[in-house]
Amino acid sequence: MTSFTLRTTARCEMIDITDRVAALVKESGIQDGSCLVFVPHTTAAVTINENADPDVPRDILASLDRIIPLSDRYRHEEGNAAAHIKASLFGASQTVFIENGRLVLGTWQSFFFCEFDGPRTRQVMVGMTAG
Ligand code: ZN
Repeated sequence: MTSFTLRTTARCEMIDITDRVAALVKESGIQDGSCLVFVPHTTAAVTINENADPDVPRDILASLDRIIPLSDRYRHEEGNAAAHIKASLFGASQTVFIENGRLVLGTWQSFFFCEFDGPRTRQVMVGMTAG
């Protein structure tokens, strides 16, 4: 397992981390196997979605804000219940195949780190398995 840190700059944002993950896959020398991307946080997540049109992540974040408003009748006293709920919906990890030393992603797919309670310094863990 290896990891990298990420400094987020907004309360909510989606950051394309595909190039950083791909670089770690290349470094590992693994030709065929799988790659797990894990976020060790309760108010952040990782998802796979479209990288071509920046309006896609914008629409995702705006829709999440409508579905899960920042303020509601939440009980969590820290004041970031919405971020916890969003993180749970998206999940803390994604796994993709590695083929010929490269991540197997669709043409328009990227890994996105999802910040829901920034800005913060975050960690992304990447594990690769051959076979
Ligand atoms: Zn909290």
